[in-house]
Amino acid sequence: MKHNFGAGPCILPQEVFQEASQAVLNFNDTGLSILEISHRSKEFEAVIAEAERLVRELLSVPTGYSVLFLQGGASTQFAMVPLNLLPEGRKCAYLDTGTWASKAIKEARKVGEVTVVASSADANYTYIPKAYEVPADAAYFHFTSNNTIFGTEMLETPKADVPLVSDMSSDILSRKVNVADYGLIYAGAQKNMGPAGVTLVIVKDELLGKVGRTLPSIFDYQTHIGSGSMYNTPPVFSIYVSMLNLRWLKNKGGVKVIEQENIIKARTLYDEIDRNPLFRGTAVVEDRSRMNVTFITEDKAHEAAFLELAKERNLVGLKGHRSVGGFRASIYNALSIAGVNALVDAMQEFEEKTK
Ligand SMILES: *Cc1c(COP(=O)(O)O)cnc(C)c1O
Repeated sequence: MKHNFGAGPCILPQEVFQEASQAVLNFNDTGLSILEISHRSKEFEAVIAEAERLVRELLSVPTGYSVLFLQGGASTQFAMVPLNLLPEGRKCAYLDTGTWASKAIKEARKVGEVTVVASSADANYTYIPKAYEVPADAAYFHFTSNNTIFGTEMLETPKADVPLVSDMSSDILSRKVNVADYGLIYAGAQKNMGPAGVTLVIVKDELLGKVGRTLPSIFDYQTHIGSGSMYNTPPVFSIYVSMLNLRWLKNKGGVKVIEQENIIKARTLYDEIDRNPLFRGTAVVEDRSRMNVTFITEDKAHEAAFLELAKERNLVGLKGHRSVGGFRASIYNALSIAGVNALVDAMQEFEEKTK
């Protein structure tokens, strides 16, 4: 078996793949494939209702928030957020911590005025800016909780007197967050929640309907709330597989339990990066991500050789993003401690061989 450290689409638990493959052939003994059942059938209504219930339970979503399953990826949320939350004539605030954050900023600027409160672009996004002020008259403050490409994470929720909006694509369900602190949370499923094709949105209802602009129906959160995420044909299979993964997480003991595992996995890997003289982490220590571990070789000539050794050890998806280079080990919820240990073993073997 291979250990998949790919950044996304991500590894999911083997039992989820097994159950999903069975449902492709015969879903719940209906004699039909999950790929052909109607999204209006009572069978699928039960699936989407369970997915919503599990999100609410696992993240302790308070009342007054809607949970949506949308399409178009997190990238569509870069546009939907300002369209729905930035009133005409007002401004919004963004923290620029990486590629995805800056893409979100670019889209918001097409809708209205954006204040970028701080940026770590000056150091290739190796850190999270700390000293900044969010203008009290901003309609909302947007930040990316985990920077998938650069390997930094905001483990503490920032303080601001305006509604918080967070792109949690790559750390949703990996640790406890207090949803009540947020106005809106979104996450493309394919990083830590499910397969590609569905995006989770959790939004505080009272923030909606106040922008004073006419929105195309499909870009209006209220449309999707009103139709239970079924305004148009939803991505049935992606929602189904996400639901299976949410069930898996619940059976494991939920977010609290997985968070402890994620802490151990990250510590194990960073300890080896810091110990092994051949490797070096790229993100500043205090902002290191628990989900995407970015590191390089001290000697560039070692890069290809280590990837080759990793491949021989069945460790795949480790090549770093082109804007950082080196390696990126994405150690999402479904990546086991055994997978991390196998990577550490390979790093130690590489050290021995290179002596
Ligand atoms: C991958 C990623 C995105 C883009 O997601 P799509 O679903 O491909 O649009 C946005 N934000 C973060 C943090 C990501 O990791």
